[in-house]
Order: sequence, then C-alpha cells, then structure tokens
Amino acid sequence: MSLNEIKTRILKAEETAKRPAGSTQLIAVSKVQPNERVHAVLQQGHRLFGENKVQESEGKWPDFKQEFPDAKVHLIGPLQTNKVKNAVALFDAIHAVDRPKLANKLASEIQTQGKAPDMFIQVNTGEEPQKAGILPADADAFIKECIAMELPIIGLMVIPPVNEESSLHFTLLRKIAERNGLTGLSMGMSGDFERAVALGATHVRVGSAIFGERDYG
Ligand SMILES: *Cc1c(COP(=O)(O)O)cnc(C)c1O
Repeated sequence: MSLNEIKTRILKAEETAKRPAGSTQLIAVSKVQPNERVHAVLQQGHRLFGENKVQESEGKWPDFKQEFPDAKVHLIGPLQTNKVKNAVALFDAIHAVDRPKLANKLASEIQTQGKAPDMFIQVNTGEEPQKAGILPADADAFIKECIAMELPIIGLMVIPPVNEESSLHFTLLRKIAERNGLTGLSMGMSGDFERAVALGATHVRVGSAIFGERDYG
C-alpha cells in the first residue's frame, strides 16, 4: 500500500460516516523503519509522524525536522518518567499519559521548558496487565486530575487487545471521552483504521500499511 491509498481510504471512511473530509489526522508511524522510507514519505508532503521510543526518535527527528521544519512527531508509545525531559523537548504530542506520577513529572517539565506538547490519556480498555493505560474505572478521576494540573489534555488514546473486536474498545473510549468533555480520539492502526474513523477517531496511527512491514532483524 502507499500513503495516497491510505489517505483515500480515510476520506472514503469519513464520507461514509458523514464526517467532514479531513477531520481525521493521519499519523504515519515511522518507528523502526529505515530513514530512506521515512524521508520518502516526507518528500511526498506528509508532515505528521508517530514514534514509540524516545531514544530512537532522538536519533532521527532532529535531522528530519531541520530539513522539514513543519514536520510534527508524536510519541505514541509508553513514557518512563526518566525520559520526560527529553520527550517534552522533542515531541509535538504525547499519547500515553497514564499515571499520576507521569502526569506530575510532565506538569513540572512543562513549567521548566515553557513548552507544552498536546497530550492524550491512554486508557487500557481491555484491562490487560501488561499494557500501559489507566483502567476504565479510574479514567474519569485521572482525567480530572490531569486537567486540574493544567496539562494540555486534548483527548484519549487506546490500543485494543489483539484478539478482540476493536470496535467495542473504540466505542468505550469515545464514551469516556464524551462524558469528560474531551474531543480527541487517538485510535485505529493499519488493520482497523477505517473502523476507527467510522467511530469518530480524530487521529489514526498507521505504520505498516504505509511503510511496509517493520524489520526488527
Ligand atoms: C506501532 C504502533 C502503531 C502502528 O501499527 P501498524 O499496525 O503498523 O499500523 C500504532 N499505534 C501504536 C501505539 C504503535 O506502537
């Protein structure tokens, strides 16, 4: 597949859902991909990317941003508190705010740097022990806590369990967002982004369908 094909499919899904064209942002997930492939997608004019590791991103994004100053990169993977400083410095948005300790650290780092990336709160809708994210039962309180500390929370993010129908998780995420007055929904990946658009995603995170399979070897 290609970038243009994915964009066309998003537009179609928006049209089917009677949503305005362009109301879904496409985050091209460039983690692990060779720099040439990422550069090619930048040269095609795409400007919004996603990475899941702070260190890996520091190795490539300062250079890409120098060449393409309007490029934006979002951290979509889990964030450890000892990487908060670097994450606030580098990223335009952080998608995995999921615990009070991290929220506190982010709030103080924003003060220090005078720079505040947009933030999403990750919800572990599948209640999987190995997965990041606040549990649904704790989400309302945590969202209020983050807003009270003036974190720029723009929405919620989910990674559904691999073997479950993702629509159920997208719907639950949307309900939690709506009752908390949040409009951003970061949901949907290569296998289910059209379903996510149908259910109101504002940001889809698509990697392999744009760049090809990731080669971890
Ligand atoms: C890698 C990753 C993606 C993209 O996955 P694909 O299946 O390649 O589209 C999306 N979201 C997160 C959080 C990821 O880590």
